[in-house]
Amino acid sequence: MAQAPAGLPPSRGRFWTRTLAVEIAVLAVTPLVLGVVVGFWQINPVASAEYAAVGSEAHLLLEGFPDDRLVVEIAYQTTVGPPPGPSVATLLSRIHETCQKSVVQLDEHAFSSSQSSFSESQILTLESHVRQVWPTWGTMSLFYLYLGGSDSSNPGTLGMAYRGSSIAVFAGTIATASGAVGATAVTTTVLVHELGHELGLVGIVGYAPNEDPNHPYHSSDPSDVMYWAVETTAISRLSGGPPNQFSAADLSDLTTVKKTFIYSEVIPWIVLALVGVVAGYLLVSQQRSLRR
Ligand SMILES: [Zn+2]
Repeated sequence: MAQAPAGLPPSRGRFWTRTLAVEIAVLAVTPLVLGVVVGFWQINPVASAEYAAVGSEAHLLLEGFPDDRLVVEIAYQTTVGPPPGPSVATLLSRIHETCQKSVVQLDEHAFSSSQSSFSESQILTLESHVRQVWPTWGTMSLFYLYLGGSDSSNPGTLGMAYRGSSIAVFAGTIATASGAVGATAVTTTVLVHELGHELGLVGIVGYAPNEDPNHPYHSSDPSDVMYWAVETTAISRLSGGPPNQFSAADLSDLTTVKKTFIYSEVIPWIVLALVGVVAGYLLVSQQRSLRR
């Protein structure tokens, strides 16, 4: 310990008290400021990275904060053209019914590809080439890859939510599976059904009483768009036609989703808080050593 030099001013004690207050403020405020500044910019891109699980961005889609805007991007293969207008209109209606966004913007564009069968890794690569909108400050995005072909690993798949804000729709398979019901009705169901998974339905986020135990993440209600059979070729044989509405039970589930803790959303904040504490500690240590 260094000896206190002779002739120190009598106000040394008060000086230390004030400095301690500053140190505590630095320790408390640094993580908060870091968390807010970096969190706002980074939490969405972090959640949108390749590992983002389906449902992990449910809060960002459902809530008006931090993202008040939502861009619905549909990239369609030129061989199949854009999805039917009525299907997209119904999708937008369902988004307005469930997501608290003041602005929902539709962005449809074509991409050229003659491919007719897609593996999941090819879909991920394709998305990285054709997706134009990723979540940014104040704007959440939802991406649909509208493909003319089919899923190579499961040719009966009509649609698939494969990341926190990414959905593939296999229009080629829908065309052959829709039968007399018509492709437009089935497309509408698929667009809305996969949205439901991204919102955390059914039981992907939180407990859902209407989840069918025999078909995880799906409903047992045939009139519900989250009904398990709408993902299969049985969709064209459902009495009453393919459903495209969320049931009252689904809407109730969404209130649970909003209250449910999603780990991937909180981890960046915890990391930032820890970084902030270490940075604050280093700052205070440096200040002390300079004073000695
Ligand atoms: Zn499903």
